Amino acid sequence: MSKLFIIPTPIGNLGDITFRAIDTLKSVDLILAEDTRTSLKLLRHYNIENNVESYHMYNEHKKLISIIEKLNSGFEIALISDAGTPGISDPGFLLVRECIKNNIMIECLPGPTALIPALVNSGLPSDRFLFEGFLPVKKGRTKRLKQLSAENKTIIFYESPHRILKTLNDLSSYFSKDSYVSISRELTKIHEETFRGTINDSIEYFKKKKPKGEFVIVFSPN
Ligand code: SAM
Repeated sequence: MSKLFIIPTPIGNLGDITFRAIDTLKSVDLILAEDTRTSLKLLRHYNIENNVESYHMYNEHKKLISIIEKLNSGFEIALISDAGTPGISDPGFLLVRECIKNNIMIECLPGPTALIPALVNSGLPSDRFLFEGFLPVKKGRTKRLKQLSAENKTIIFYESPHRILKTLNDLSSYFSKDSYVSISRELTKIHEETFRGTINDSIEYFKKKKPKGEFVIVFSPN
């Protein structure tokens, strides 16, 4: 039975993988991985010996047809990314859409992703929220921030250590400087930390403490 499995992998702590994820990664005919070297380390850790091919943002268009051909010939294929859930600010969407067009079964296993623990840690309303992923770096950034300034749901951004201060400064320009923000860093890792306070306080905090690691910003526009 051909099928595409979307398999979440840990965002830091290697204990955060499900039994079913490991079983599926062992049993499929092929694993597609964003960075084969990163994933081989992970696969070895769980004693998974299987065929691995690369599938990332620079080859995903080119590889689509050959992957669909393999699936149509009866392959079971698993897609993993470097961390978290494929398709969430990572490659995956194109392949899932192509499988749907070709009547190929898809199964996304539940598992690690950075946005959910950051949201729940924040103490901000989680009944409705807007996941924005990464803000555009240049083109479209101002337009997006203007659009978001009319929003009143909890907003979640992904950010890198190099741009976190720029993004916090931009948020302070488009929203009230007293807006509440919760910034989770290095989730599930040794140096996990969540800063909670106003946008202005967070800017002061990260000016003093050099931002390091991976960040999720959870933000209340009100
Ligand atoms: N697919 C991943 C997911 O499901 O969350 C997201 C991949 S995206 C390329 C990488 C971004 O996710 C990082 O820049 C950071 O914003 C966030 N992220 C991933 N792991 C994280 C962690 N352990 N702690 C905080 N943020 C993390």
